[in-house]
Amino acid sequence: MKIGVFALQGDVREHVRALSSCGADASPVRRPEELEAVDALVIPGGESTTMSKLAVEFGLLEPIRKRIAGGMPAYGSCAGMIMLAEHVLDGRPDQQSFGGIDMTVRRNAFGRQVDSFEGPVTLSAFDDPFHAVFIRAPWVESVGEGVEVLGRAAGRIVAVRQGTLLATAFHPELTGDLRVHRDFVEMVRAGLNVTEG
Ligand code: GLN
Repeated sequence: MKIGVFALQGDVREHVRALSSCGADASPVRRPEELEAVDALVIPGGESTTMSKLAVEFGLLEPIRKRIAGGMPAYGSCAGMIMLAEHVLDGRPDQQSFGGIDMTVRRNAFGRQVDSFEGPVTLSAFDDPFHAVFIRAPWVESVGEGVEVLGRAAGRIVAVRQGTLLATAFHPELTGDLRVHRDFVEMVRAGLNVTEG
């Protein structure tokens, strides 16, 4: 099972490390051929406007859109959450996303005075709170019917799942808590019917 990390911009290395720690074969994706070789994709934190621009330049926007629409599992953290949203508020006029999750996200939503903050977030999948790091994070303004809300911070939706698409407004790749990555890897593995061992 191969999991790619969208690697044109963002905290790619941290996601590769987290995925590898969960037993996945993780590799950066910069070219369409590399995308074809993976079973699932992680979209890192970084800057969604830059990701959008580079995805167009490197010919990855349409191929990733198609793979996601075709059922490829994907996980996005922060800017990656924005890239997985069908609708983006406060984006650049020409900003594109890969889409897939029926939600509207607002970029840099938590405001300037709380540009970055961290704290415990209760996620429905886990017994213990998750120490979540938010950096100029988006929040989810609204979700469609098929979207499951997994967690909130300050009353705002910050973690969602729709089928095998997962997104968090925070950065689990920065804290060493592997639970989100482990769940994603398990989900991909279950979808592929691959057994470990
Ligand atoms: N504010 C960034 C964006 O709009 C996301 C920040 C992040 O990924 N830490 O893409």
